[in-house]
Amino acid sequence: MKKRVLSFNYTLKDNKGQVLDASQEGPLSFLEGQQQIIPALENEISSMLIGQKKNVKIAAADAYGVYDQAQVIDVPREQVAHIEVEVGGLVQVQSPEGIQVLKVVSMDEKIVKMDANHPLAGVDLEFDVELVDSREATAEELSHGHAHGPGGHHH
Ligand code: ZN
Repeated sequence: MKKRVLSFNYTLKDNKGQVLDASQEGPLSFLEGQQQIIPALENEISSMLIGQKKNVKIAAADAYGVYDQAQVIDVPREQVAHIEVEVGGLVQVQSPEGIQVLKVVSMDEKIVKMDANHPLAGVDLEFDVELVDSREATAEELSHGHAHGPGGHHH
């Protein structure tokens, strides 16, 4: 089957019904099969018809992962002396897997406690989605590996 570019509107809520995110500047577009969105969400959207709306619940494990206490690490203050840190702030560090974003949980004179979990780790998600467009991907999109045009990448 030819790969498609799918465009959808969404509202993302946590399991308490609090809105975390939503498409605001028009629908989001993605190229199928590139893991540009959560795979469990892509599975649902790829079987929808244009104009169809759906409520999709995704457990944390299938979204941004379960919360892992082992990813909360103590970093000696002097190791991060060159960067400004504040509780609640985010710090970017270079790791073998690439750039990692850590959240500063707490700190004292010696130790900065940082959390490497994704902000949505451990959160069960609920999406209200509406598929607004579905079209065949262009050769250029296939070679770039992403969607172009409104809701996709701009060049
Ligand atoms: Zn491109």
